[in-house]
Amino acid sequence: MSTTRASAASSASAMSGPIGIFGGTFDPIHYGHLRTAYELLATLRLPEMRFMPAGNPPHRNQTIASNEQRLQMVRAATAGQPGFTVDDREMRKPGLSYTVETLAELRTEMPARPLCLIVGMDAFLGLPKWHRWRDLLTLAHLVVAHRPGWRAPSMGPLGELLVDHGTGTVSDLHEATAGRIYIHAVTQLEISSTDVRALIGAGSDPRYLMPEGVRSIILESGCYAR
Ligand code: ATP
Repeated sequence: MSTTRASAASSASAMSGPIGIFGGTFDPIHYGHLRTAYELLATLRLPEMRFMPAGNPPHRNQTIASNEQRLQMVRAATAGQPGFTVDDREMRKPGLSYTVETLAELRTEMPARPLCLIVGMDAFLGLPKWHRWRDLLTLAHLVVAHRPGWRAPSMGPLGELLVDHGTGTVSDLHEATAGRIYIHAVTQLEISSTDVRALIGAGSDPRYLMPEGVRSIILESGCYAR
C-alpha cells in the first residue's frame, strides 16, 4: 500500500473505529493505568484511548490533588503516545459527574461510533452501585481489565450480565456501537493511587511507579505530602 493510501486508511479507521473511554480519579495517574490503556489500545485495535478524569465523583471521597493538578498529571502522562487523548469535560461540569450521563453526551456527539468504557475488575464488581448502571450497556461496550487479586463474577446480577453480553471476540466491539462486555487480562501491575499517596505521605519517593513528568508535578506541588 502506498504511504498516501496507508495514511488515508488509518485516518479512515481513526474516524470510525471504537473509542476507548478510560475514566478514573487519577489521584494520581500511575503505570497500572497507563500500561492497561496501552495494551488495550493495541489488543482492541482502538484508534483512540480517551482519558477522562472524573470531576466530582459521586461514589467516592473528595480527591486529594485538585482538579487542575490531576488534569496536569494526566496530560503529562499521556503526552507523546499516539492514540492517547485527554477529555476534561467531567472536570469542567459543575456538580456531580455520572458516567452514564457522560456516555450519553458522547453518544449524541458520535451516534455511529462504538464506545468502549474501560474499567478495572474492582470497578466492574462495584457496577451495580453506579447511577443507572443498566443503561451503560445501551450506550457503550464495557471492557474489563483484570486487576491483581480480583475474579470475574459467575453469579448474581453481574454473572447474568456476563452470560447475556459477554464476548471473547474483539471484532464484536467494532461491529456494534454498544452492548458487549469483553474481559481482558492485562499485565498485572499491583499499583494503586491509594498506595502511591500513602507512600508519598510517609516520605518515600514514588519514582518508577509513574512517568517522570507526573512525579515532578507531585514533588513540586507537594500535593500528597503530609
Ligand atoms: P484508588 O486507589 O484511589 O482507588 P486507583 O489506583 O484504583 O485509585 P482510579 O483512578 O480509581 O485508580 O482507577 C481508574 C480505573 O483504572 C479503574 O477502572 C481502576 O479499576 C483501574 N485501575 C487502577 N489501577 C489499576 C491497575 N494497577 N491495573 C489495572 N487497572 C487499574
